[in-house]
Amino acid sequence: MASSSRNSGNSRNSGNSGVSKATLREDLTCCICYELFTEPVMLGCMHHFCKRCISTYWRSLRGPVSCPQCRQEFPNKHFQTNYLVAGLVEKVKATSSNGYLKNLQRQLKNSLDSQKSRKEEFITMIRKDEEQMDTIRKAGAALRDRIHSDFQALHHFLQVEEAVVLEQLQREQEVMEQSLQRHLEDLHTAVRELEENLNTIQQAAGTISGSLMVEVPEFNSRPQIQAMTIPDFDEFCSKYIAPLQYTVWRKMFQSLKPGPLPLTFDDDTVHPSLLLSPDQTQVFENVVIQPYQHNPKRFVQCVNVLAAQGFQTGRHYWEVGVGIKPKWDLGVALETVDRQTRVKLCPENGYWTLRLRNGRDYSAGTQPWTSLPVTSRPQRIGVFVDCEERRVSFYSADDMRLLYSFSNGPRAKAFPFFSPCLSEPGQKVHPLRLLHFPSNLITEN
Ligand SMILES: [Zn+2]
Ligand SMILES: [Zn+2]
Repeated sequence: MASSSRNSGNSRNSGNSGVSKATLREDLTCCICYELFTEPVMLGCMHHFCKRCISTYWRSLRGPVSCPQCRQEFPNKHFQTNYLVAGLVEKVKATSSNGYLKNLQRQLKNSLDSQKSRKEEFITMIRKDEEQMDTIRKAGAALRDRIHSDFQALHHFLQVEEAVVLEQLQREQEVMEQSLQRHLEDLHTAVRELEENLNTIQQAAGTISGSLMVEVPEFNSRPQIQAMTIPDFDEFCSKYIAPLQYTVWRKMFQSLKPGPLPLTFDDDTVHPSLLLSPDQTQVFENVVIQPYQHNPKRFVQCVNVLAAQGFQTGRHYWEVGVGIKPKWDLGVALETVDRQTRVKLCPENGYWTLRLRNGRDYSAGTQPWTSLPVTSRPQRIGVFVDCEERRVSFYSADDMRLLYSFSNGPRAKAFPFFSPCLSEPGQKVHPLRLLHFPSNLITEN
């Protein structure tokens, strides 16, 4: 029978779809009183009404009992209470209450706000990412330029050197060829003269038999040949068969910018418990405290020493031989650091350092320390300072692996800094060495 009419209730009340609450409400509305069912009951035709409405309707009828909606007639006034529909009505009533709606509104507002703020958050993140992308691209381009110009300097050096060597070869070859050419010409002239002599002598000999020979004809008795002044051919060859690449590399090494600086320790700064080698390139700890001249530049609390060469512009690189010393600090220090007190070595106090303790614990002198995972134990440490970029970097100079880099380097004049530290009792004492590497390539100035 007609079970699909608008208040059939149990036929289409799955209210959480998009069709939703409005339709559900209609389905649960009594078509007699136009209100939500009160005590809903179902007739044999499956139509629902309020118990009271259908009872009142039936009482008003004169003839047979029928459904007010589909007009189906029934033998008696029978209906069935529908608890399922009653439950649904209660639910719709509850979700239509003011409190419920307010709560719902609040919930919606909350989730709207949270979605908005998440969106803002993501947009900020996008902006940050884009800025970072931009920074990376700019830095990459600047680095590319720098790499390009560094390589170009090397290419240029090699091209100039090649041209110089080739030109020199050309010149020396020409000198030899010219000299040989002159020698050849002299020899040809001499041969011609000798041939003339031969003719003269032969003619004279031919006349001897027929007549009286008066005298020996005159001829050039000894054509002169200049001694050849060709440069030594062997020397010429040896010069260009020399280990040319190495010869050029040595020259190139001296033109490196920055190449390893031939630093020396500054005697005025050295702590009295330390001893410098006569050439000022090695520092040792000393068992007795040396008598010393008072000097504001001298470290008197910590066993430190600076190099004599400081800088506040440009790029500088030097190498320190640490060997198997189990303990040291090195890096750069501001010229203004207080030499009379004991301070932590960190940029805030004017020090940018790398340190080793216990022969294996490497750390960067940050506040607090930054422990560094150094697996192989470098025998030489390279220190690079770029004053303009304010960068102080440390390398394992054995393989030029980067160990740590400060990006907040000194703003004012700074000096290479060293502390050989004091060894534990019974430990063998090793020096810190300033490397002039390769030792004989760099002329000190
Ligand atoms: Zn009703
Ligand atoms: Zn009906």
